[in-house]
Amino acid sequence: MLASLERLLILQERDVRLRRAQTELNHLPVEEKQIAARLAAQSTEFERLKQQARHIESERKQLELQVGTKEEAIRKFQTHQAQTKKNDEYQAMGHEIERARKDIDALEERELILMDQYDEAQKSAQAESLKVREYERVAANQREEWKKKKTVLEEQVKTLTVEIAELQTQIPPAELSAYRRILQSKGDLAIVPVVHGTTCNGCHMKLTQATVGAAKSGGKIVHCDNCGRIIYWTLP
Ligand SMILES: [Zn+2]
Repeated sequence: MLASLERLLILQERDVRLRRAQTELNHLPVEEKQIAARLAAQSTEFERLKQQARHIESERKQLELQVGTKEEAIRKFQTHQAQTKKNDEYQAMGHEIERARKDIDALEERELILMDQYDEAQKSAQAESLKVREYERVAANQREEWKKKKTVLEEQVKTLTVEIAELQTQIPPAELSAYRRILQSKGDLAIVPVVHGTTCNGCHMKLTQATVGAAKSGGKIVHCDNCGRIIYWTLP
């Protein structure tokens, strides 16, 4: 194989690794954002459940106050009833007391329902709080892993960049720029092997006899007739 083609292949291998490392690096903030969004959503849900429990509790306290007011009223009716000499007033107070007691019964019944609802809401909030804490732990571990991964990837990028710069000085400028141009336009590989002795492994099209022959002899850099990638012969 041509010495410059060998160097180009090494360069391509480094280029591919560099691209992979950079892609992974670029993806880290995306993953972090997803974790943060999930954490925020869970915290919001926890707050909502807590708020719901507080709301139920305050509604129940309102009812308790209303019961107190009714009880106070009953005491006044009873005092009035004890003091009055008039039979119709005595009876009217009796009705008022009876009505207030019925109101109290209804209020207390509603209070019991709210107490149950409060317990349920508290349980849900507690369960959600456990979930939040658990996920916070997962997220913290994940962030720690990313930090390590980021350091490794950044180190790789640095090393590869130096290696690539060094390799590029060893390749004739015309070949290097041809390689870069193909790599840029194809996005994956600029140099591919001939497979099955007939086919370009980049575009998977059959090569002409002449092209295959040229690649096989290895005297110069040969391009695929179809896609323009540099091809090389791997069979003996
Ligand atoms: Zn091709």
